[in-house]
Amino acid sequence: MENNTSNIIRPIIQKDLETGKRNYVITRFPPEPNGYLHIGHAMSIITNFDLADEFNGKTNLRFDDTNPLKEDVEFVQSIKEDVQWLGFDWDGLFFASDYFEEMYNRAIILIKKGLAYVDELSADEIREYRGTLTEPGKNSPYRDRTIEENLDLFNRMRKGEFENGQKVLRAKIDMSSSNINMRDPVLYRIAHTTHHNTGDKWCIYPMYAFAHPIEDAIEDVTHSICTLEFEDQRPLYNWIIEQTEMESTPQQIEFGRLNLTNTVMSKRKLKQLVDEEFVDGWDDPRMPTISALRRRGFTAEAIRTFIRELGVTRGDGAVDSRMLDHYVREDLKLKSPRTMGVLRPLKVIITNYPEGQVEMLDAEINPENPEMGIRKIPFSREIYVEQEDFMENPPKKYFRLFPGNEVRLKHAYFIKCEKVIKNENGEVIEIHCTYDPETKSGSGFTGRKVKGTLHWVDANHAIPAEFRLYEPLILDEEEQQVEDNEEDNEEEKTFLDRVNPNSLQILNGYIEPNMKEVKPQDKFQFFRHGYFNVDPKHSTKEHIVFNLIVSLKSSFKL
Ligand code: ATP
Ligand code: MG
Ligand code: MG
Repeated sequence: MENNTSNIIRPIIQKDLETGKRNYVITRFPPEPNGYLHIGHAMSIITNFDLADEFNGKTNLRFDDTNPLKEDVEFVQSIKEDVQWLGFDWDGLFFASDYFEEMYNRAIILIKKGLAYVDELSADEIREYRGTLTEPGKNSPYRDRTIEENLDLFNRMRKGEFENGQKVLRAKIDMSSSNINMRDPVLYRIAHTTHHNTGDKWCIYPMYAFAHPIEDAIEDVTHSICTLEFEDQRPLYNWIIEQTEMESTPQQIEFGRLNLTNTVMSKRKLKQLVDEEFVDGWDDPRMPTISALRRRGFTAEAIRTFIRELGVTRGDGAVDSRMLDHYVREDLKLKSPRTMGVLRPLKVIITNYPEGQVEMLDAEINPENPEMGIRKIPFSREIYVEQEDFMENPPKKYFRLFPGNEVRLKHAYFIKCEKVIKNENGEVIEIHCTYDPETKSGSGFTGRKVKGTLHWVDANHAIPAEFRLYEPLILDEEEQQVEDNEEDNEEEKTFLDRVNPNSLQILNGYIEPNMKEVKPQDKFQFFRHGYFNVDPKHSTKEHIVFNLIVSLKSSFKL
């Protein structure tokens, strides 16, 4: 493992091992199965697995499934698949919901110590009583119930004697603490709902702040890595571990979350895009989910390199999303075959090429990686070129086809535009050209030079294919917008206004006939267009669909 990128967590672990505070390292990736994983989760996954790996430790995959309302087995499945696809094998696979009995018992310990009580204030009242940053909170009138009363009520909460919201269990800490998280946080709430794992066994569910430290301690996690917004919860995390008398004492360490430009990265917002049909599912190639990135054609390797290069810092400003594009280009450059595809076809007839004749031309599969060999491309009298590669009245410095101009066809011959054929509406429907047999590619012809080189496909042999071109789904506002991922209702109203109406463009074009056997997830570099992936969801043998992964060039510089 490389050690040269910045990582604020590494020295903490290193020191813990050196001083003997720890003898081993256990980390965990703890997703809540309430949505699909996104590129931000990849940062957490890679950070946890890499750090454990570096110190010969272990990493668990733990489903933090303590909220039955939003969770689903569909998400459990997809999360496992995505973690594996990213290249990681977990040591333990755990469900927080398997610890419900133990959590309940730990809550009883708190009650017995006089450190927790059953409250009957409503959610609104609890919020009101909690106070603000500048004002201390005030005690609930139920705060001083006896231990016996609390034990009885908590037991009856579990038995289902009360309605949702009627009662909660709260820690009894300090309503005037300067840290609002310490002002008697709610530990348990009532929810009469079926849970994806425990079914109807429970109707009370632990809150994240109570459950998470106990989960970590049960699994003997040493370093519980989370994002910065949990920093203020660390004192509560430690309080829970200590007061519930857990044997293991995990340490919470925070880092800055990943934000990307032109990207929303909260599961809640992504779910909204899915539910309101802005996209065709969680794996729509425009989404920042791992499954969408995979479907679009991003590689696990590129994602890992991107995250590792960013390092682990306390910064959480938005990273330019074109940086990820850069790493996928780097990864695919040598691996992916080159090919030609015409996205917006314009027919070209080569009038002096013999009718019925077909010749097979040699073309390098990847000039940057000659070991990949050559492919054969047919050439005959009728070909397609790109519509934008012809202009009847070109501006200066237009070196492609126009009446009287000669260009090179990649891997083939020079052709010269002789005649333009239009329909009755005056639209160009066909170009007539002549070719010069002496200019054949690879023949060593040096007689004259042309400035433009066009891609093309043979019209009689080419295979129709669909091309899906993508632009960012969400556009940033003028000033950089940073997703803070917290419940922020004002932003919620505006993010849908930033949906890009042109995020998907579908084109029907043609590809080389040697592409007939492509399989889902095959990746190619289409000459002059960019990298494309065979769509695993919609592509069939009869109707091949390509997703644009990234264009060839970028204005982005590392
Ligand atoms: P979201 O708000 O997008 O739903 P979350 O934090 O609620 O994210 P979890 O399933 O709880 O989602 O996340 C699992 C782990 O991934 C957590 O440890 C969380 O801190 C981490 N994580 C989530 N988003 C990011 C991000 N953008 N950058 C880094 N880590 C992240
Ligand atoms: Mg979370
Ligand atoms: Mg969440």
